[in-house]
Parts: sequence; structure tokens; C-alpha cells
Amino acid sequence: MLLNDLQVELQQIKNLELTRNIKELRFLTPVQGMDKTGQQYTVFSSNNYLGLTHAPEVISASQRAAAFGTGSTGSRLTTGSSFESGELERALAKFKHAEKALIFNTGYMTNLGVLYGLVKPRDTIFSDSLNHASIIDGCRITRAQVKIYPHSDMAALETLLKQDRNTGHKFVVTDGVFSMDGDIAKLPELVQLKEKYGFCLIVDDAHAVGVLGEDGSGTASHFGLLGKIDLQIGTLSKALASEGGYVAGNSIYIDYLMNKSRPFIFSTAISPGAYAAALAALQLLEEERESYLYKLRENTQYIRCLFKEAKIPVLAGITPIIPLVLGDARRTVEVAAQLAKAGFLVSAIRPPTVEQGKSRLRLTVSAAHSFEDLKKVTEALVSLI
Ligand SMILES: *Cc1c(COP(=O)(O)O)cnc(C)c1O
Repeated sequence: MLLNDLQVELQQIKNLELTRNIKELRFLTPVQGMDKTGQQYTVFSSNNYLGLTHAPEVISASQRAAAFGTGSTGSRLTTGSSFESGELERALAKFKHAEKALIFNTGYMTNLGVLYGLVKPRDTIFSDSLNHASIIDGCRITRAQVKIYPHSDMAALETLLKQDRNTGHKFVVTDGVFSMDGDIAKLPELVQLKEKYGFCLIVDDAHAVGVLGEDGSGTASHFGLLGKIDLQIGTLSKALASEGGYVAGNSIYIDYLMNKSRPFIFSTAISPGAYAAALAALQLLEEERESYLYKLRENTQYIRCLFKEAKIPVLAGITPIIPLVLGDARRTVEVAAQLAKAGFLVSAIRPPTVEQGKSRLRLTVSAAHSFEDLKKVTEALVSLI
């Protein structure tokens, strides 16, 4: 019996204390959440890097666009696509220093759609071992050969590239900022390898947009490699305070995907309000760097400094993703629960999201946190670990 089998499996997950639960939360501010009992928390578990979800300009842009319908009611190719979608695509292409951009319904679907759309079964994909699940799933549905290289190990990647005897095209795909460790892909080396081996380089900047680069446009800007990445993927759901995903690159790639990518073609588009919110957020990111981009950087440096002084052994780095590896899954969940009691929401990341023995607390910093918030969570951590 299917239901019995599923129940047995669920029980096994429960026995390992790896059950996942959904917490219903209302965000009163970008970093202040309230649960149904009325308890409030300072949130360190979202990807609201710039705190733009509650910016008055973003909220009113979303409300104004809602006047043209709360839903899009169809695929962009069949029903017609809102004015806001085209405006946002043009703005994203410019922002990412690319010819053209195409929006999908989520970042997850963007990875599925780009890989499924471009990679043929005779091709080879080289994929970093710590890539996001949506890249892993995207690789799987292509039915191409997938070669996983050890995390950011460029020598190992080169060996695999040399050994590849496939006659199809080669693709290398990587997170720009890795979502669980917060470290940055070695783009300069990847671009060198690309020049030597001639592959298509795809970089998923979900955690890099609004975070890295002088203009906040991501890893290419951070490394001074504008124009060197074939396809840049991103999401509207993190720093850009909305929902949806996009890919930016050469117009041939984009036109091809628009014609061939099933996740793009066969799904109803996001609503006008969602495009409008992301567009307003993008404008604020570009025009008010002091309040958002630079404030995020200041907060990130500040909390990393506090952790260092307090000797909290977080992984080193410069991004606002700050992992504190505790190892044991049960302990990680316990500490997260105690933090919640003290009024701080921090993610407890366990297998299968990370390897066995590498369970961790994962804090994400936002431009909307105050120094006081950062000091208080540091004190709470010191007392608990
Ligand atoms: C969050 C994330 C995604 C998925 O984006 P959604 O818009 O949430 O679907 C894709 N890739 C990476 C690296 C991510 O961190």
C-alpha cells in the first residue's frame, strides 16, 4: 500500500528527528516576524538582503500594477504579457550588462528551463558539487552526461574537461554565491577555463544580486568580468523583494529559450504586481545604494566582526550568508529552538540539504537589521553555544 509505505518513510524521518515543519509567520517589517500566538522575532533566516519587501515605493508599485489584474491568467505566449513584464526584462538585461533577459516564474524554474531548453542529451554538463537543488534537478531532466566536480576545485574541473570525449556541447554551471556556505565561485578561473575549452558558462547569481559588485549586479561585476559569462541566472525573490526568476545573456540564447523552454512556455506567468514590485526594487537598488546595498555591506562586516570578537566560529567570507557549523543535526535544531525562544529566527540546516555531520545554523543579514539587532543575536549565540 502506497500510503503505508509513505507513512513508514515519514516515521523514519521522524526517528532521525529530521521532520520539517512550516511556521506561519507575518512580516511586520522586513526583519520582524510575528507568529499566530503574537510572539515576535527578529528574523535572520530570510533572503531579504536589502529589506525592500516593505519599502513604500515597492509596495505602492505593486498596488498600482494590481489595478491591471491580480493574476496574469495565462502563459505569456498565449495570453499576452503585461507591460510590466517587458519593462522589467529590459531593465534586468541592462542591469546585468546583457543583451536580453527572460523572466520565468521562479528561480527554480529558471534553472530547469535554461538547462532543459539548451542542453541536449548528447551534451555534457559540468556541475559544482554544492550547486543549488534547482541546478541539480535541471541537469537531471536534460538526460545529458552530468559530471560533478568537487566544490570549486578548478584543477578537478579541468581534468574532467580534458577527459570529456563527448561530441556535443559543453556547459559549466555554478552558483555565483553558494547558498549554504556563502562562499563565492572562482569566476576568474572559470572564465580562463572557458577560454581554453570553449564551454557555455552559466552562473546562478540568486544570492549575489543586490549583494556583490560595485552596482550590486552580482559576481561578474564583483570580479570585473562583465560580458564574460554566457548566461547569468537570478531570482526576483531574494534581494529584489518579489517572486520570479530570470536569465540574461546573448539574444540568441534568450530567443531560443522563449521558443523552446517548456517551463517558460507551459506555465501561467506571475502577476503584474510581482513584476512591478521587482522593477521598483531594482530601481531602489540602483538609485539608493547608501540605504540598501552599502547598508547591507556595513551590517555584514559589523556582525562578522562581532562574531570574531566573541570567538563564534562561523565560516569566513564576505557575503551576508553566515553559517555556523555545529555538526550534529539534533543539537543544531535545539540551538535554533532556543534562539527562537529568545526571539531570533535562525535556520537550522540539516541533511539532506547539507552533508551528514555538517548541520549548521545559517544566519542571513539584511540591510534592514539595526546594529542593535546584530549585537543582540550575537549575545544570544554566545550564551547558547
Ligand atoms: C533561491 C535559489 C534559487 C531558487 O530561486 P526561487 O526564486 O526561490 O525559486 C535558485 N538558485 C539558487 C542558487 C538559489 O539560492
